Amino acid sequence: MRTAIIGGGIAGLAAAYELEQARRAGQKVEYTLYESRHRLGGSLSSEVVDGAVLERGPDSFLTEKPAAAELCRELGIGAELTPSNDADRKTYIVVRNRLIPLPDGLMFLIPTKLIPTALTRLFSLPTKIRMGLELLLPPRPSSQDESVAALVERHFGRETVDRLADPLLSGIFGGDSAQLSARTVLPRLVEMEEEYGSLTRGMLAAHRKMRARIKAAARTARPANVKGSAPAARSIFTAMRGGMNQLVDALTARLDPASVRLSTPVSGLEKTTDGWKIATGVPTDRSLSVGWMAGNKTEFYDAVILATPAWAAGELLGPVDPQLAGELRGIPYSSSITVNLIYDEDQLGRLPDGFGFLVPVVEGRSMLACTFVHRKFLGRTPHGKVVLRAFLGGMKNEALMAAPDEALLATVRRELSEILGEKILPQSAQPEYAQVSRWPRAMAQYAVGHQERMQRIHARVASLPSLRLAGNAYDGIGIPDCIRLGRQAARELLAASFQPTP
Ligand SMILES: Cc1cc2nc3c(=O)[nH]c(=O)nc-3n(C[C@H](O)[C@H](O)[C@H](O)COP(=O)(O)OP(=O)(O)OC[C@H]3O[C@@H](n4cnc5c(N)ncnc54)[C@H](O)[C@@H]3O)c2cc1C
Repeated sequence: MRTAIIGGGIAGLAAAYELEQARRAGQKVEYTLYESRHRLGGSLSSEVVDGAVLERGPDSFLTEKPAAAELCRELGIGAELTPSNDADRKTYIVVRNRLIPLPDGLMFLIPTKLIPTALTRLFSLPTKIRMGLELLLPPRPSSQDESVAALVERHFGRETVDRLADPLLSGIFGGDSAQLSARTVLPRLVEMEEEYGSLTRGMLAAHRKMRARIKAAARTARPANVKGSAPAARSIFTAMRGGMNQLVDALTARLDPASVRLSTPVSGLEKTTDGWKIATGVPTDRSLSVGWMAGNKTEFYDAVILATPAWAAGELLGPVDPQLAGELRGIPYSSSITVNLIYDEDQLGRLPDGFGFLVPVVEGRSMLACTFVHRKFLGRTPHGKVVLRAFLGGMKNEALMAAPDEALLATVRRELSEILGEKILPQSAQPEYAQVSRWPRAMAQYAVGHQERMQRIHARVASLPSLRLAGNAYDGIGIPDCIRLGRQAARELLAASFQPTP
């Protein structure tokens, strides 16, 4: 089976790795990985500057989703997995230039502890009263998808959307809670509403069940007469000690170098009677990363894995299946910017404890979030240095993508100083190093109706059995999901191609 993988982000790399494993195991597999940029990894991009690990894109992945850590272990870089420093985990929300810690007991946006919720300065008294009354809501069948903002507002009021849902979701998806699908992004909350009515009661019941399961598992794992401590809690996030490029490099090292084509955008895709024709070429219009181009080469394959962003997959599939192409182009994307700043500790006052802060859109700032990188992951910043990483952009601020680096740096330094205070971060403090990275249309948004759209996409793909889609647009935005989908795409094609013909 000859397979073309289009897109060398983490999803495409995972697919290529899976095919390479099959090839090494003796299966008749050939593959080519096409990547339009001069490097592999897509949004994963890190470097070490003066001993500090700087992440331009993702800095970690969720530990509870196993696909990424499992792959690292398979690749022999398991020892490089680094847990987040959860002992110091504290996140603030900016409210009128003050940093207010998220109250203890928040689970998936839901307040579950009475006293911290009653005492927090994050919410006004009317919101707190509403949170109490929420406990009385009766079960509610849900027939239609709605936005996360609508769901949260119905239960806890507008202030909770502005100060909690919006900043938390823009931190994860670069998204807008008024557009994101509750069913896709927070399916557990939708189920809880159906079963319990009150999300707080639903969350408390789920928590009780989870604790009972953990206790039961601990009892079966440990003979009754042996006393011992409970299993150590896992960190929420896992990073790579030397940066995300370690994963990209380890995957690349496993591939057959002859099968990887960098700086090779796929410009055209055509279905033939028994396979696929692929055109590659330099874009005639350099502002486009994909589109019909002066294709300078065509090649034939039995199967194709499209691991580009969905909008790029939609462009390529236009001539093959206009309906599928339209669905893919309809998946919205947001753009984001990261700014890494390295400071000498002596230049700054003491930063507040914790991992950093989120900035609600209603605060009217350019920054969406800031991570205190040297605190979140220990051992990746030299002693005496401070690394701050700011996020900008998102669905409501696409225009920032066009701003020059100097303007973005000036904005970030001014806003940091206003939020943290002149004493902690004087505007005069010069970073020793500053780095701006832009990610245009890199984060898919699971908008209201995403699941229905996915059903239509699956139905169309089923009519093209030698085609698979992989990437962050479909069934999970994070690195582990992209790895899972990339590997699954390759496995499905392998299984189909090696089935005995009837
Ligand atoms: C700033 C930022 C921070 C993030 N933080 C986190 C985080 O902390 N944790 C987490 O789990 N996730 C995070 N994410 C999300 C996660 O990184 C992405 O969802 C994931 O990396 C996407 O991988 P992918 O392979 O689907 O797509 P991409 O990484 O976008 O890769 C697609 C590739 O396809 C190539 N391509 C496009 N068109 C063509 C063509 N015509 N021909 C050939 N190649 C083409 C592109 O050049 C690109 O390399 C973050 C994302 C961003 C942008």
